[in-house]
Amino acid sequence: VHAPNQTPAPTATTCPYCGVGCGVLATPDRLGGATVAGDPDHPSNFGRLCSKGSALGETLALEGRLLHPEVAGRRVAWEAALDAAAKGFRKALETHGPRSIAIYLSGQLLTEDYYAANKLFKGFLGSANVDTNSRLCMSSSVAGHKRAFGADTVPGTYRDLETADLLVLVGSNAAWCHPVLYQRMLAAKAGRGTKIVVIDPRRTATAEEADLHLPLAGGTDAALFAGLLAYLAAAGRIDEAYVAAHTNGFDAALGKAREAAPDAGATAEACGLAKADVAAFFDLFAKTERVVTLYSQGVNQSLAGVDKVNAILNCHLATGRIGREGMGPFSLTGQPNAMGGREVGGLANQLAAHMGFDAESVDRVRRFWSAPRMAKAEGLKAVDMFEAIGRGEIKALWVMGTNPAASLPRADEARAALAKLDCFVVSENMASTDTVTAGAHIRLPAAAWGEKDGTVTNSERRISRQRPFLAPPGQARPDWWAIAQVARRLGHGEAFAWRTVGEVFREHAALSAFENDGARDFDIGALADLDTRDYDRLQPVQWPAPRGGVRRETRFFAKGGFFTADGRARLVAVEPQPAPPAETAYPYRLNTGRIRDQWHTMTRTGKSPRLASHLPEPFLEISVGDAAREGLLDGGFARVTSAHGAATLRVRVAEGAPSGALFAPIHWTGETASDARVGALVHALYDPISGQPDAKATPAAVAPVAFA
Ligand code: SF4
Repeated sequence: VHAPNQTPAPTATTCPYCGVGCGVLATPDRLGGATVAGDPDHPSNFGRLCSKGSALGETLALEGRLLHPEVAGRRVAWEAALDAAAKGFRKALETHGPRSIAIYLSGQLLTEDYYAANKLFKGFLGSANVDTNSRLCMSSSVAGHKRAFGADTVPGTYRDLETADLLVLVGSNAAWCHPVLYQRMLAAKAGRGTKIVVIDPRRTATAEEADLHLPLAGGTDAALFAGLLAYLAAAGRIDEAYVAAHTNGFDAALGKAREAAPDAGATAEACGLAKADVAAFFDLFAKTERVVTLYSQGVNQSLAGVDKVNAILNCHLATGRIGREGMGPFSLTGQPNAMGGREVGGLANQLAAHMGFDAESVDRVRRFWSAPRMAKAEGLKAVDMFEAIGRGEIKALWVMGTNPAASLPRADEARAALAKLDCFVVSENMASTDTVTAGAHIRLPAAAWGEKDGTVTNSERRISRQRPFLAPPGQARPDWWAIAQVARRLGHGEAFAWRTVGEVFREHAALSAFENDGARDFDIGALADLDTRDYDRLQPVQWPAPRGGVRRETRFFAKGGFFTADGRARLVAVEPQPAPPAETAYPYRLNTGRIRDQWHTMTRTGKSPRLASHLPEPFLEISVGDAAREGLLDGGFARVTSAHGAATLRVRVAEGAPSGALFAPIHWTGETASDARVGALVHALYDPISGQPDAKATPAAVAPVAFA
């Protein structure tokens, strides 16, 4: 509360959108909104904000918010809603066992929310059916890191992008999806002449600025990097000493690479590229010591996403270009707290602090939590979880901060599956998302950005505070609190007796250091002693967190020290798969992704007219030749169909769009455009290792729509 005529001090918080994790200074106004500015002291953005971040103040209106708990469509007190949720989960557990319950989380949640959910389900209810929408975003990178490094570790920092001489962006439209980081890359290009190579089938905004754009055929990334590995070997550019001292598997990886793509010509043929472009890229990579390779959804969202990641990592390991300034592979996380979710084990195949389900880790976490019913095996990943719901095997589900009825592959089937649940709990900011309206029995009003308190971790492993500057409206409450309340009702009050969010964080930090003998990479144990004041004032900090007050930028792997049993990295013998042939009924490949000024299913960005003005409606991007062949006119409408659904979208004929491919943004849902739910079209096939769905190549057909 501030006196009349007195401007309140700004609150330093973190942007709730992408994984760049920009610092924001928010100053509440007298109308319930706020003005926002970039935080000049935050090391992610140094005061910059992109269009989405700078419009945050326009998205705080209460219109459409879920403000009160509801059970069976009737407004109730929190006590009654929590009682109902606990009753539903208890009944499923007692009748059908721990496999019959699940929770589906979100990279939008704060680390403390994620931690509480994992602790309850994995430690106290015995179910590892804990997955997240981050499964759709970066789980192939997680699996690739584990295969190569022995643990899910992103070795680089944002500063490396400014000290590199070559930036290679693979399957990443960073200009739109990580805009502030991309601005830092462009500043490096302008300042020190850093070269930028973009590898993407589409001519994106990022590709427009590149020194070299390789518009490879969709899905052929692994062949390109196999070709690069073979070229590096032929050109004498392998760091033999690094390979000998710090890696295993080089010969096998090189052998497979040579079989798949022995030279630039064969690589060009496999990838549908001009040989001169491939040769130029290979030469540039080979001759440039300081190379950072950034990759994102175009790599991860694939039937062979993990192999693609490892094909990239192979090239950095083989040249020893890792763990030193200005070089290394760099996975860009899509969501603001995808990384924080990984830290607390917010995936069905992970435990907290990046541990897996090996017996030793299970026992360690069990003892730390004094957990009475510890899950001992991996749970169901996102797609499998919703298929199990559809088969009636999961009886009670809690969805928290995400909208799977619109965003999961085969979204209509996911939505229909929800109707089979005996107990369906949704924690949400908004009253009528596709998921809330898909029959949620219990609706819990969640505090939103600006009201929530906790931490997030960005793509470079930097933990930042999200701080509240507005009072939660109505009866909205933090998600970690709702979880703790249900835990109490299920008989676990003592283990969930946190009074503040800082206490949750301290417990999470202590677990990361519990019996940590240096064998694990994730350690923020130094933050376990923060008192409430220190937690409130916590400045952005990278893990491993500095011990003894010594500030340092940690570099993993410069001298080996990988998290494998023998401390050596693994090069993986990747066998690139050719793109599947076109299907007669569905001759196109539908690629889906984000646009610059919208976020996920638009529950927040949709409130800003300024953001809507960029691209105001759902659309289908198609090449000039394909549009002519199908009789589609720019600005007209197209009916897109797949084996799973259909959508009607405005046609955008694009110069440089790849032939045989379609692109549609993911943001519009049943709430905003009744027939534009692109998630309904996307097939639910996934990488067999990571479980990450392929959202880039759904077989599809397209035809013009004429309106009477
Ligand atoms: Fe927010 Fe990402 Fe934009 Fe930064 S770049 S302001 S984190 S959306």
